[in-house]
Amino acid sequence: MKCEIIPERCIACGLCQTIASEIFDYTDDGLVLFVGEPGVTHEFIPKDQQATVIEAAKRCPSHAILYQK
Ligand code: SF4
Repeated sequence: MKCEIIPERCIACGLCQTIASEIFDYTDDGLVLFVGEPGVTHEFIPKDQQATVIEAAKRCPSHAILYQK
């Protein structure tokens, strides 16, 4: 599954990391990024992480996390 993050939409609510801490992290300003990959906006999500990423995407209040199965 592919995942895209759109930091321009992120409102730094902190929710996605609490749901999928192995995938999402934040800049010093609290904006979403992929763990260990600052500057990257697309990532392949391994199968064992897909459910949490989908949950984070659905619950993100600003629709800053997209996914494509
Ligand atoms: S849930 Fe959405 S708005 Fe909140 S920190 Fe994550 S990407 Fe940003």
